[in-house]
Amino acid sequence: MNKDQESYAKKVSDLRVYIRQIQDILSRLIKECKHLIISSDWAGAYCNICGENFGWYCEESPVKYCEYDKSSGWIMCKHCQEPRERK
Ligand SMILES: [Zn+2]
Ligand SMILES: [Zn+2]
Repeated sequence: MNKDQESYAKKVSDLRVYIRQIQDILSRLIKECKHLIISSDWAGAYCNICGENFGWYCEESPVKYCEYDKSSGWIMCKHCQEPRERK
């Protein structure tokens, strides 16, 4: 590598380090968020505070989004019985 290429490579790798640090901070913030789940236009569930997406909005679920478990083979919501795949 010549000098220009070296400094270019350093810029790229420095930026990757920053991005990783920022992602760590972001995922920590999302993890600690006391989510306020609301329904989107397409019946999706997302947090009004951190913006995290939780799949389908679910009125019957205590956490307000559809949850899947082993008993339905991870296909149907254990609260509203709706399938994971929907139009
Ligand atoms: Zn949140
Ligand atoms: Zn559900």
